[in-house]
Amino acid sequence: MSDAIRIHPSIDGGMRPAKPDFAGGTLSCSCASAPVTVEIKGQVAHNHACGCTKCWKPDGAMFSVVGVVPRDGLRVGANAAKLYVVDEGAAIQRHACKDCGVHMYGRIENKDHPFYGLDFIHTELSKDEGWAPPAFAAFVSSVIESGVRPDRMESVRRTLKDAGLAPYDCLSPPLMDAIATHVAKKSGVLTP
Ligand SMILES: [Zn+2]
Ligand SMILES: [Zn+2]
Repeated sequence: MSDAIRIHPSIDGGMRPAKPDFAGGTLSCSCASAPVTVEIKGQVAHNHACGCTKCWKPDGAMFSVVGVVPRDGLRVGANAAKLYVVDEGAAIQRHACKDCGVHMYGRIENKDHPFYGLDFIHTELSKDEGWAPPAFAAFVSSVIESGVRPDRMESVRRTLKDAGLAPYDCLSPPLMDAIATHVAKKSGVLTP
């Protein structure tokens, strides 16, 4: 199995289950000293594997694991001065540690964005046990843009399915429906 597909460390070895009534936890960057910390209140939602080229992923992983929390449930703790925005022009402003490069959270500042009010986090940065595991895989075809050979995609999708993660090439149907609903309400096609 030298050619084994490595999706993500928190998926490859089997995923850990969510704890009922999980209260949240602390995310820490990879710095050995003076790590940036971010406090999260409550459980992550829509946690998923993401194959896009923008989300932060650990070394050797093909996918990132990313989910959302309400922005008022996220608070930067220690060493906030080390954070910078990776791409000011991106819809999701990813706040990363300038020393280790880890993305601590992504925030949408555009109030018209369908996901405004939600922050994007990587729960693997937390030692707390009980986070909801990923439930699907998004932007699967995009891993080709990171250098995965197209002829491996069949095995990539099979590996995801075997792990219990339905592979989608955009977001999952409920999230695509949420985006379309937002657009339809804005245009007036859909009335409340
Ligand atoms: Zn760091
Ligand atoms: Zn992504």
